[in-house]
Amino acid sequence: MSIPDQIRALERLAQIDAELKELQERLSQERSTLDGLKSGIAKLDEKLALDRATAASMDKTRGELIQDVRNMNQQLDHSREKLSRARTEREANAAQRELEELRKLLRDREEEIGKLTAGVDGAHQQIESTEGEHRRLVEDLGAREGDIHSKLGDVQKKVKDKAAEREAATKSLPAVLYRRYDMIRSKRGTAIAQTTDGTCNACHMALPPQLFHRLRREPILEQCPSCHRIIYYFVAPLPAQPAVASAPSERG
Ligand SMILES: [Zn+2]
Repeated sequence: MSIPDQIRALERLAQIDAELKELQERLSQERSTLDGLKSGIAKLDEKLALDRATAASMDKTRGELIQDVRNMNQQLDHSREKLSRARTEREANAAQRELEELRKLLRDREEEIGKLTAGVDGAHQQIESTEGEHRRLVEDLGAREGDIHSKLGDVQKKVKDKAAEREAATKSLPAVLYRRYDMIRSKRGTAIAQTTDGTCNACHMALPPQLFHRLRREPILEQCPSCHRIIYYFVAPLPAQPAVASAPSERG
């Protein structure tokens, strides 16, 4: 296999790998959209469970306090009766104090009940609004899930086709060269680099002049001393890049 043929095969493989990478990115994007919708719903489920538990616990406390108030009212009746039956000033004063203390306790309880009632109402409003949000998310997921799944299936098929194409492309390369390519690609993301002006177009470092000279003289594959990518002299413009005319040296 001639060097220009190897270069063409490497370029083809690099192109396929770039496309595969883009497809994988699309896959993970679609998956993360789906995961985002689902985890949003799961978070609201948790929040609802917590808010419902809080509301129930406040409601329970309020029920207990209402029972307390009933008991205190009975005690109040009892104290009033004691006051009416008092025969000495001392007895009357004691009953009066008892009444006052009970009234104060009763006021405190009622105040607490008022606060809890407001708390329970607030919690129920919060729960209703969370339920609305939850419904919207579930509807959103329902509306988009099918579409996302079909996109996922579509991209997965493209990935499979592209992988088969890659398999074929790798076979057109000498095994040693392919192994080198793949090892560099796994470390650097991309494995090939070109030079037109003495710098590596992947890492932008200047090549030793001797190396550049050899690369220009005849088609060879070398390694960039800085990024270790497979490097060669750029002869034909790649589809994605504008053609660069090699300018004559401006020195002199
Ligand atoms: Zn380089």
